[in-house]
Amino acid sequence: MITRLCVIGVGLIGGSLAMALRRAGAVGEIVGSGRDERNLRRARELGVIDRFDLDPGRAAEGADLIVLAVPLGAMKSVCIAISEHVLPNAVLTDVGSAKQTVIDAATAALRKTTERFVPGHPIAGTERSGIEAAFADLFRERRVILTPQRNTAAEAIHTVRSMWEQTGALVEEMDAAHHDRVLAATSHLPHMLAYALVDSLSRLDDRDEVFRYAAGGFRDFTRIASSDPEMWRDICLANGDAIATMMARYRRELEGIEAALARQDGARLFEIFTRAKRSRDRFVA
Ligand code: NAP
Repeated sequence: MITRLCVIGVGLIGGSLAMALRRAGAVGEIVGSGRDERNLRRARELGVIDRFDLDPGRAAEGADLIVLAVPLGAMKSVCIAISEHVLPNAVLTDVGSAKQTVIDAATAALRKTTERFVPGHPIAGTERSGIEAAFADLFRERRVILTPQRNTAAEAIHTVRSMWEQTGALVEEMDAAHHDRVLAATSHLPHMLAYALVDSLSRLDDRDEVFRYAAGGFRDFTRIASSDPEMWRDICLANGDAIATMMARYRRELEGIEAALARQDGARLFEIFTRAKRSRDRFVA
């Protein structure tokens, strides 16, 4: 049971986590923090939080569990703002989409409580943001990756693991650098592809006609290009090297397809498409 939970950043992820924990009866009081008072008022009206404070330090005071659910670019300033206000026995965690950058920010800012900081990342989300997009089932049967450090307290890991389990999530642990490489491949690269495709088509002279005839496949492939630009800018800045490596690999694959097209090499195209279809069918199953 969490007596007082503090959620800094009551948006899609922070709001959904608060809703899921409330529904599970796992939490007493929920205190929110953020920049936009209207968003926090709305979160209180919806019953997602009990009260809020625009000052993250004051919001964190007296909390036994603190969740940082702000964009990656804001993690450092939030860690600095709360560092002098955290109870000595409080547990801290985050939900950021890249891990090494948050670990660096937390280690520099929290100092005394670094061993009680458990980095985390729920592999769940939608292309929508803000409190109106939050829902209690977001994490049900979805994976959450924790990337504890060598000095992270076992008891803190246990607290964060059991918090996520109460939302219905499946919790795993992984090294932070490995997490950042894996997520560059499975999440960050697809977002780059979707943004680049929509951006390049939107600058065609006949774009209106192109978009008029776009069908379900285009909609499926580009859904994630509606994701929040601030969040994705921050993810790119935080995990740029791993993303660039995956982009280079993808570029080589495209060049292979381009060369096969130029050679009219149907056998090669068939081989690539068959291999990809098999992999995706296996993944979906
Ligand atoms: P979101 O819906 O936009 O929520 C972020 C919240 O952070 C907003 O409610 C915003 O509230 C607050 N915020 C922004 N800057 C702040 C600052 N400087 N100080 C205090 N509060 C601030 O975004 P989200 O999708 O929940 O993403 C939050 C985190 O989850 C990110 O680190 C992201 O990498 C990670 N994540 C996202 C997904 C996904 O699919 N969306 C999945 C997994 C992990 P105010 O407007 O009140 O400031």
